[in-house]
Amino acid sequence: MTLQLNRRQWMKTTAAAAAWLWVNSEFQACRQERPEPLISSEDDFLRLDNNENPYGIAPEAREAIIDAIRGSHRYPHRLYSELVKMIAAKEGLSPENIILGAGSTEVMNMAIFAYGVKGEVLTSDPTYFDFIFYAEQAGAVIRSVPVDENLVIDLQALANQIQATTSLIYICNPNNPTGTIIPGKNLRSFGEEASGQALVLVDEAYYEYVEDNSYSSMVGLIREGKKILVTRTFSKIFGLAGLRIGYGMAHPEIIKNLKKVQMNFASIAYPSLRAAMAAYTDGEFTQSVKEKNKLAKAYLEGELDRLGFVRVPSQTNFILLEVHQDSKQVATALEQQRVLVRPFSFGGRNWLRVSIGTIDEMRVFISALRRTEG
Ligand code: PLP
Repeated sequence: MTLQLNRRQWMKTTAAAAAWLWVNSEFQACRQERPEPLISSEDDFLRLDNNENPYGIAPEAREAIIDAIRGSHRYPHRLYSELVKMIAAKEGLSPENIILGAGSTEVMNMAIFAYGVKGEVLTSDPTYFDFIFYAEQAGAVIRSVPVDENLVIDLQALANQIQATTSLIYICNPNNPTGTIIPGKNLRSFGEEASGQALVLVDEAYYEYVEDNSYSSMVGLIREGKKILVTRTFSKIFGLAGLRIGYGMAHPEIIKNLKKVQMNFASIAYPSLRAAMAAYTDGEFTQSVKEKNKLAKAYLEGELDRLGFVRVPSQTNFILLEVHQDSKQVATALEQQRVLVRPFSFGGRNWLRVSIGTIDEMRVFISALRRTEG
């Protein structure tokens, strides 16, 4: 079957091809500036849709993975305990306070099954989509409270919605997709109160990126014995998203309940544990990622401001910006230029969530956005 194009279709196709060639030449230029290609040849997309670390994995973690091949005929139990001890020592907790998962989403899933489905899940809207998705899949009843006018999680409104049936409260801080934070002291008083009524899960996936001094982790409440579960991940600043490893911290009783619904104690592969242990102690790498993220974010913010886009102040490795057309259509138009981002719509407005890549990647994104939204 031949493909026949009318004049308009032909012009559209030609324009799209020209745009692609233009973007592609920028990609090629980016590649030449770096020892490693920004975009691998088998995957010619600029992936700004999953908030991954664009700087790869720490050199020490890479070495550890290569070395781990030799030990991979063994089950990972011993290493599991070693990593648990390392996390406990760093956080001022005991090993009984820690559980590991194949990504922090595995730990969140345990919380959904051990607590969420027993009553109702209370959370904010919008928040981390995967959590909502897994809770729905598990059959949990979900009650959501809109974020406030600054797109910050509204703790007062959440507190007003707590009922006798509320069994799990999910708070993502910093929140995804808004990138906003709840000040530590506000969340602390909320946690102290609410943990008397339900398990409060604080997702701190972007904890390491936060610059704002008013932010603090809720691990302190765990040390005080409160019914709080804090989850963190090796997928973001540590750059190990593909190795699937994260952890949860809570009172030993809560950890016991999570273990009861854990599908498989050995869900984390031996090389993943080795890589996580190496990355966890490699402060130099994470510090450099944080600094580069800050610079690339500042560049993106400056460009968005210059172009007049409304953006939400972010404490993470992604930014939410408002677009003027249907967000799905904008995301599709960007995808046609080989740039992947996440569309959202809430509060009657259209948004894109864009991961902070390298400065070169941000340049490519801005060019593509200007062609789409300009
Ligand atoms: N929590 C939030 C809020 C996220 O945005 C993400 C990843 O995008 C995760 C957790 C990471 O999940 P995992 O540790 O399973 O990779």
